[in-house]
Amino acid sequence: MTESATSGVPGMTVESAFAGMRSVSPVVFRAGCPDCRERFELTASALRLAIGATSRTTFYSFTCPECGAAVRKPAGERIVELLTGGGVRTLRLHSTV
Ligand SMILES: [Zn+2]
Repeated sequence: MTESATSGVPGMTVESAFAGMRSVSPVVFRAGCPDCRERFELTASALRLAIGATSRTTFYSFTCPECGAAVRKPAGERIVELLTGGGVRTLRLHSTV
């Protein structure tokens, strides 16, 4: 019975990944810049998530802290879950009727 004592278990849900650590450390997301190829960590407030009607119009964006480029990347279902669960500001581009 060592299952629950292990941290960083692959396949753990977003909820359990963030549970308990929310108030301890801010959630950061690793991102890379396609322009200057810099890699960095961004807090939730540095990211924007836009959810469109289809997965093709769903993306997240941020400004590269190194070169200032506006980066936009497609966001799959799992990324959307991660970002919204981490408190990233979400913009819905389609009407939810
Ligand atoms: Zn850059």
